[in-house]
Amino acid sequence: MDIQALIREIPDFPKPGILFKDITTLLRDADGLRYTIDTLAEKCADLAPDFIIGMESRGFIFGAPLAYKLGAGFIPVRKPGKLPAAVHSIEYELEYGMDRLEVHQDALHPPACRILIVDDLIATGGTANATAKLVQQSGCQLVGFAFVIELKDLKGRDRLPEVPIVTLIEY
Ligand code: AMP
Repeated sequence: MDIQALIREIPDFPKPGILFKDITTLLRDADGLRYTIDTLAEKCADLAPDFIIGMESRGFIFGAPLAYKLGAGFIPVRKPGKLPAAVHSIEYELEYGMDRLEVHQDALHPPACRILIVDDLIATGGTANATAKLVQQSGCQLVGFAFVIELKDLKGRDRLPEVPIVTLIEY
C-alpha cells in the first residue's frame, strides 16, 4: 500500500523553510492507519520490546497501538510540566528550536525492560537521541527505534545509538 500518497506536505509550517509532513491525512484513512500500524508491528516484532516509548504528541498516536499489537506496555515521554509524578528530564535541540522532554522516574525499571522508541518522523534526530539518553540513563535496554517517516538528507540516524532503526517511508 502506498501510504506516502496519504501524507500531505505543507510548505512553510510551522515556520518559513520547513516542509511539514502532515500525517493527519494518513490517520483519517482507515486502511492507511491499519496498514501503518500492522507494518510497523511486523517489522518491530523481532525486537521484542517490553515497553514502547512514544514522544509527545505524534509518537503517542503510533506508539500506543503498536504497543497493543506487540503485547508491550506504553510509556509517554512528554513536554515539560505535563507528567504528574517525579520526572527525569533532558534538554534537546530540534529542527525548529530548543525543547525539553520528561519521563516518569518510576516508569523505567531495569533490568527487565527492553525499550523501543517510536515517533512519527525523524528529522535531525535530536528528539529521538534525547529520548534514547533518558532510556540509557535509566539503565534499561534500548532495543531499537521505529519511525513512520525518515527525512534522509538531515542524517538523523547518524546521531542515534547503534540499535536497529525501522522506517516505513523515506524522503
Ligand atoms: P528531530 O528532533 O529534528 O528529529 O524532529 C523530530 C520531531 O519533530 C518529530 O516529533 C516530528 O514530529 C517533528 N518534525 C520535525 N520536522 C518535521 C517535518 N518536516 N514535518 C513534520 N514533523 C516534523
